[in-house]
Amino acid sequence: MARYMWVLGLGMLGGCVAPPGEMYVDSRFTINEQNEIQKAADAWEAKTGGVGHVTFIWGYVLGSGPPGRQIMVRVDGEVFDGAIGRTDWTAEDEHMYIDTRADTDLRTIVLHELGHHFTHCHGHLGPGTVMSAFTGSISKTLTQADVDYFYGSCR
Ligand SMILES: [Zn+2]
Repeated sequence: MARYMWVLGLGMLGGCVAPPGEMYVDSRFTINEQNEIQKAADAWEAKTGGVGHVTFIWGYVLGSGPPGRQIMVRVDGEVFDGAIGRTDWTAEDEHMYIDTRADTDLRTIVLHELGHHFTHCHGHLGPGTVMSAFTGSISKTLTQADVDYFYGSCR
C-alpha cells in the first residue's frame, strides 16, 4: 500500500510580506540538492512560460532574520506523520519541509511542494500527476493536469 505522502498544510493563507518570488533555502542543503531544487523550479517555469517563477536565496540559516519569509527547510527524515513533504502557511510566512531521506527523489518532492507554493492550494490531483498525494502514483514530470492545477483549477 502506498504510504501517505503529502500532508495538507495547516494555518491561514495570505498575508505574506516576503516578495512573492523569493524563497530562502536552508543552508544545510548540499550543492547537489541545490541543483535538484533549482531543476524543479526550472521545470515549473518552463511549463508555465515563466509565470511560475521563484528566485532562491541560498544558504539561509534557519531562525535568522525577521519573519515574513518563504523558507525551504531540509529535514533528514519523516516530515510529519509519514509525509515526505509539507508546506505550511501563516499570516506572515511560508515554511516548506523537504525530507532528504525519502524513497522519492528530492527533485520530485520539491516539484510537488512548489505546486503548493505557487498556488497556495491544497488540492491534489489523481495518480500519474506531480500533484498526486501518494508516492506510488506520482509523476516525475509535470503533466497538463498539473499545469491546469497551477492556473487555479485545484482539485
Ligand atoms: Zn501535496
